[in-house]
Amino acid sequence: MTWTPHGAHLIAGTWVNTPDTFPSEPASGPVHQFSVGTPALVDQAARAAEEAFWTYAYTSRETRAAFLDRIADEIEARGADITLIGTQETGLPTARLEGERGRTTMQLRLFASHIRKGDYLDRRTDPALPDRQPAPRPEIRLIQRPVGPVAVFGASNFPLAFSTAGGDTAAALAAGCPVVVKGHSAHPGTAEIVAEAVLAAIKALDLHPGVFSLIQGGDRKVGAAVVQHPLIKAVGFTGSLAGGRALFDLCAQRPEPIPFFGELGSVNPMFLLPAAMAARGEAIAKGWSGSLTLGAGQFCTNPGIAVVRQDQADALAQATLDALRAVGSQVMLTEGIAGAYSRGTEQMAGAPGVQSLLTQVCDRRNALPQLFQITAADWLANHALAEEVFGPLGLIVTVTGEDEMLAIARSLQGQLTTTLHLDEADKPTARKLLPILERKAGRVIVNGYPTGVEVSDAMVHGGPYPASTNFGATSVGTMSIRRFLRPVSFQNLPLDLLPEDLR
Ligand code: NAP
Repeated sequence: MTWTPHGAHLIAGTWVNTPDTFPSEPASGPVHQFSVGTPALVDQAARAAEEAFWTYAYTSRETRAAFLDRIADEIEARGADITLIGTQETGLPTARLEGERGRTTMQLRLFASHIRKGDYLDRRTDPALPDRQPAPRPEIRLIQRPVGPVAVFGASNFPLAFSTAGGDTAAALAAGCPVVVKGHSAHPGTAEIVAEAVLAAIKALDLHPGVFSLIQGGDRKVGAAVVQHPLIKAVGFTGSLAGGRALFDLCAQRPEPIPFFGELGSVNPMFLLPAAMAARGEAIAKGWSGSLTLGAGQFCTNPGIAVVRQDQADALAQATLDALRAVGSQVMLTEGIAGAYSRGTEQMAGAPGVQSLLTQVCDRRNALPQLFQITAADWLANHALAEEVFGPLGLIVTVTGEDEMLAIARSLQGQLTTTLHLDEADKPTARKLLPILERKAGRVIVNGYPTGVEVSDAMVHGGPYPASTNFGATSVGTMSIRRFLRPVSFQNLPLDLLPEDLR
């Protein structure tokens, strides 16, 4: 029998319905009704999370690792149902949902093994120096401790890997922080079935039920109430610049400001250097087209801009056009995102100096690729063109030479990624570009494409504002656990009073 959502919130182990409902907006399959979230539910969830903190934060690393492993198992046990509701709600294909489920369970298990190793605690000891002159030094020991209850905003474009039990939740639970998830209204049923998996793991490990709650949206007040709740101590967010900035500002305005780890996306410029273009321009264009249109371009690492020398632009445009014309329409995540894509395309087409190479009319929620071209001078004169259009839209920026390429690099705002395509003869230019690009992006790529973010120890998925609201952090990979930890020094504590991991 197929799984059907109850449409309820999960508040500290109990499924709760509220009188008002909102309908899901599936790309296919039945519409379901979901209870609208309220600030009162946020308060209940945050209080339960705070209560859970007093036991959960003091569980052993092995207990938390077993919890994360069990969530992964419970997600896998519901695999077919998760894929069905996920594909219906988001319009993403089955293979994508299955791949994303694998990534989600892998992330959970990666964090389990990461905390088992214990290196993330970054334990340091300054031994006592009782004979030091002019004053003795006490023993000082440092360890990372969990910050407290964490709020996580599910992302529209990653219904599994960046939502209910996605990377932010896995990192926070691994750190020892209870989690309150604000579900994304683009996939409330997917959120609910994953919450069921988390609840099953809580029961199996006999943990405090306040360790995890899911509140569905349907009302803007929910997001604001979550970030403003005094018991919430940090926020993980993936979404738009406007939404992220509004919530970031609310966090900063609190009587007790808290860190807001917002991953807000970027245009991920690619610099196509002359020798590489001469040697394999067609292959580079094909690769760009593939990366640009993957998942209907709904990735924060989507490479929206390609910077190329003007005498090589025609070849790049032609090969990219050939590849893009072969890409059919793809269903977008929501009507709202499809509408924003159409408006972004129109604005690009109407901007001064922009030449339309491929403009296609999109039918309702279906996206078709678009391609535009502009000179560096016109692009530099119009800051709006450096903003993300969420969807498969590419812009070729032509430069007269190295100086203009460097000027474009210098003008960039913060990016998640920047990419260089280069050959041996391009290295002198690359050496000039790299120090600039390193200051602009969280990840610098050579001869590759930015989509397909590895979940690993060395990955940074973040970057200077506005790519993220916190350039010292990553939202992907094991280092993302640091967002939900804070260092505490223990000075002169007897061994048996120290936190267990410091003894
Ligand atoms: P969004 O509008 O930023 O919403 C993300 C989450 O934040 C939702 O849960 C939303 O709640 C909440 N929220 C947003 N603004 C808020 C406010 N002022 N007060 C309280 N809560 C607020 O992002 P989205 O819905 O995923 O997509 C919209 C646009 O974001 C897209 O068109 C795209 O441009 C961009 N986007 C970027 C990325 C990326 O990775 N860079 C990913 C996804 C989307 P509600 O459910 O109440 O709206």
